[in-house]
Amino acid sequence: MIKVGINGFGTIGKRVAEAVTLQDDMTVVGVVKTKPTYEVQGALSSDYAIFASTSEKIPFFEKQGIEVSGVTEDLVSMSDIIIDCTPGKLGVNNMEMYKNGNTKAIWQGGEKHAPIGVSFNALTNYNDSIGKDFVRVVSCNTTGLARTLHPISQNYGIDNVQAVMVRRSGDPKDSDRGPLNSIEPVLNVPSHHGPDVQTVISDLNIQTMAVKVPTTIMHVHCIIAKLNKKPNVKDVLSLWEATPRVNLLDGFLKNGETEIRNLPGTAEIMELARDLSYRRGDLNQIAVWRDGVHALDDKLYYYQAIHQESDVVPENIDAIRAMLNLESNNMRSIQKTNKALGIT
Ligand code: NAD
Repeated sequence: MIKVGINGFGTIGKRVAEAVTLQDDMTVVGVVKTKPTYEVQGALSSDYAIFASTSEKIPFFEKQGIEVSGVTEDLVSMSDIIIDCTPGKLGVNNMEMYKNGNTKAIWQGGEKHAPIGVSFNALTNYNDSIGKDFVRVVSCNTTGLARTLHPISQNYGIDNVQAVMVRRSGDPKDSDRGPLNSIEPVLNVPSHHGPDVQTVISDLNIQTMAVKVPTTIMHVHCIIAKLNKKPNVKDVLSLWEATPRVNLLDGFLKNGETEIRNLPGTAEIMELARDLSYRRGDLNQIAVWRDGVHALDDKLYYYQAIHQESDVVPENIDAIRAMLNLESNNMRSIQKTNKALGIT
């Protein structure tokens, strides 16, 4: 069993911890918390050992009646691999600590590619991470773009992709985030998403823009891909049907001449995930609106929705397998992870 430590137990950290416990080849040896806030209750109820981020923090935990098993360095030294889920741009500062502990580490998409050197998507570049010590799992948006563009690139060849990311402004728990009643364009063009996709599909010509909207429920991507061959919508849909972690959904159902609202937006999609009793009501798969896929000449148009809190979770599991040489074939790891997490 691979011993996994989780550094940073927020939105992503708690989900990755839970996903690790559902695998038969790895186990959680502990989680690092900076403060004994409410999220520590979830860690305790899952029986994870709690580590304080620094020794100065230990009395704060003890005052709340929470027993700690040590500090971050202790967890690092007892783990085969650390999943660093601390806030973006902060995690990379921990690299020296992981090096000193001779412990492998995975960072998340809030970090830049350069200092880590290898970025990961299970479908597109699993092999680059085999046996590596330090890897970054790309962001939720990048993961979504990589998953749907990869089969198109393999089967049609892509001349160029133009995409707009309509981004949720915060996660459901982030009551301090905004905008609350405004739509904010991200004024840097191209946005960072396009270059980020190139860290996992190196030869892709892609430019992106982004806007932030006042919702906590999913990102939506509007994508136009100019292909090397004219796309056929039926064929494209069957490619995505065969792609793991991509689900096709119907926005509207036809009843004769009448169109019935089915899953027209992100609210209904997440309600479906809750109806199906997916863990935490998460949707690890990328949702593509079947009736939003169109072909005009050599261009393919489609919309997809990304559950930002959870699409990267199975990717972290596959990255562990690659780095620890547990599985050399990406599809076998993806299938194993999907089965354990109930991803259909
Ligand atoms: P979060 O704020 O929900 O969780 C971060 C956790 O780390 C918090 O519990 C915080 O208290 C803790 N922390 C802060 N400093 C720490 C330290 N020094 N040591 C240990 N723990 C510390 O953040 P998140 O959304 O889970 O994001 C984590 C990473 O995942 C970021 O790189 C982010 O960009 C990336 N990511 C986030 C999302 C998302 O939508 N939330 C999606 C994909 C990737």
